[in-house]
Amino acid sequence: MRDFSKDTSALALNTATLGHNLAGYGMDWPVERVIEECALRGFGGIVFWRREIGTRAIEIGNRVRAANMTVAGLCRTPYLVGSQKPKNWKDETLHCIEMAAELGSPTLTIVTGGTEPGTKGVIETQKILAERLAEIAPYAAQRGIKLALEPLNPMFGGNRTCLMTVGDALKVCERVDAPNIGIAVDVYHLWWDSNLAQSCAAAGHRIIGYHLCDWLEDTTDMLLDRGMMGDGVADLKAIRASVEAAGYTGMCEVEIFSQANWWQRDPSEVLDTIVSRYRTIC
Ligand code: ZN
Repeated sequence: MRDFSKDTSALALNTATLGHNLAGYGMDWPVERVIEECALRGFGGIVFWRREIGTRAIEIGNRVRAANMTVAGLCRTPYLVGSQKPKNWKDETLHCIEMAAELGSPTLTIVTGGTEPGTKGVIETQKILAERLAEIAPYAAQRGIKLALEPLNPMFGGNRTCLMTVGDALKVCERVDAPNIGIAVDVYHLWWDSNLAQSCAAAGHRIIGYHLCDWLEDTTDMLLDRGMMGDGVADLKAIRASVEAAGYTGMCEVEIFSQANWWQRDPSEVLDTIVSRYRTIC
């Protein structure tokens, strides 16, 4: 396993972790400030959300690289399946791919959306998802973008996802059979899976993202109460060992949605805490 105790070059911030302190909210940090503060602390990369980028993708990507970091990812496409899939899902997804390319991001994250109307369970929806991914994968490949399918905790089944495990996501990857479709392993979503090491080994090079946080023993909100690494019960070292044994050598992206706790704090404190936990806990 990689030694993170002195090296933070694989540490990336998912900007959602700063919650309501981004431009126009809370402590009002514009993108430029986020980049500067991450660079100061030795982060290796940043993962943005589309709403922060607007029409400034090229400029922001260049600014990140000028600060000696990389754009490690972009969140995220619209839902591709399920009742909340927008009518223009394909155009919007192509637009996301374009934005990721302009940013210089290697990947674009996909949260799939829930069970397709007119079907039950997830199997049919997974087949439909694979067909839709096959429609967009070639365009993403042309633009140099990998599409990262993110399995979600089963409690998000129904309205947000049809993929609950690495095995689910791998099945869809194999069905699409495009080299630029992979899987993002998120601690929050997969910490409970006692079969995770085997699933990661089976997924191998398909693992193209790793998202860090913790699962709080007494989670109070299934979407917005993620824990800081070390504050919960997820076996972070074991999960990273599984991902790295599968061959993953990429960024470790800290992604903490925490409305009542970390989003209320000074973003400087949040970033400092991330760095120290990353070195000691992850
Ligand atoms: Zn994630």
